Amino acid sequence: MQGFATELGGPGSHTAIVAEGLEIPAVVGLGPFLADVSGGEPVILDGNQGVVILQPDEETIARYRLEAEIARSVAAQLDTLRDLPAETIDGVRIGIHGNIEFPNEAEHCIARGCDGIGLYRTEFLYLTSPREPTEEDHFAAYSEVVRAMPNLPVVIRTLDLGADKLRTETTSEERNPCLGLRSIRLSLRHIPSFRTQLRAILRVSAMGDVRVLFPLISTILELRQARMVLADVMEDLAEKRIDFNRNMKVGMMVETPAAAMMIDVFVKEVDFVSIGTNDLIQYTLAVDRGNKDVADLYNASDPSVLRLIRRSLDAAAAVGVPANLCGQMSGSVVYTQLLLGLGLRQLSVPPSSIPEVKQVCRSVSVAECRLIADRALEMDSAREVKNFLRDQLSRVLPETAV
Ligand code: PEP
Ligand code: MG
Repeated sequence: MQGFATELGGPGSHTAIVAEGLEIPAVVGLGPFLADVSGGEPVILDGNQGVVILQPDEETIARYRLEAEIARSVAAQLDTLRDLPAETIDGVRIGIHGNIEFPNEAEHCIARGCDGIGLYRTEFLYLTSPREPTEEDHFAAYSEVVRAMPNLPVVIRTLDLGADKLRTETTSEERNPCLGLRSIRLSLRHIPSFRTQLRAILRVSAMGDVRVLFPLISTILELRQARMVLADVMEDLAEKRIDFNRNMKVGMMVETPAAAMMIDVFVKEVDFVSIGTNDLIQYTLAVDRGNKDVADLYNASDPSVLRLIRRSLDAAAAVGVPANLCGQMSGSVVYTQLLLGLGLRQLSVPPSSIPEVKQVCRSVSVAECRLIADRALEMDSAREVKNFLRDQLSRVLPETAV
């Protein structure tokens, strides 16, 4: 596929996220335009700017050809960073991990010089098949990823189905699916399927540095319940003398304001946290991440979101629990300095963003980033924060267009 454009959806929707992961140019949420295309005519799809140009003139085509040429040479230059560490100029090592949806994307992360897989979204195993995956289906997919990542951590997230991640034949009765039976809630209602997935994750934990991540945790009881099911599955495997890592690290996503507000309680019961800003923004600002009509209100630079991130990172640091940020925000270089300044030392990003984020990390100092974060936290609007961050990025990397 060369690319696609949709009338519906927003930049935070999973259609857009998967397209970015697979490096397919895409523009979503354009509103009605299909009536204006008859098929077969030339079209320019500009996924960077979010525009589609129907029947472009020669001058526009020439301009885009030149831009594509420049993008190819920038990518070739960034390739040279592949084997260099993401270390700031004041010597702080940042971990850059990849987000994947399909096992073969692990290779793309390795090719870009990642430090591991920070988020493996397993729901695509369900979405690409008409039947429920078996334990062997799970095991085959997970082992492919673990084999591609020798000696590197692989964070496998349990099923996060629901909201905009549903099989096409499913007709949801829910009127408000983002607030409905999705994600960990669904897993805890379907314990046999949850156990099947956990058995497969535990089995691959014997093959490498595998960690499990529970999505959309909003209460401590949910976390405890999920951990109880995990402990139970461990007992089962032990009884059957099946190999697994009894000390497999267990983490939770921080993607609801409830989790961020109660983070001091949660961090005492997990080995790591991963901040999921895609949902955290949606639930904090009450903006559906997949709705084009409110896409302009869906904003990672909103001060309320920044405060929740800071709160989460501070609480994790206070008890020495490692924190990662795996929402799309971490792959956008305009936020890198802010995130390092807020205390983040591990980012998980789409494979195509790894080189660019690494370049920014290698061009800044944490001391400077802290000042940037402090300034941003004093601001009162998303627009002010975003303009400030753009300005700060252009100071260290003037050639990076954002
Ligand atoms: C998030 O919400 O930030 C996240 C990483 O999970 P997903 O995009 O799969 O909902
Ligand atoms: Mg999420």
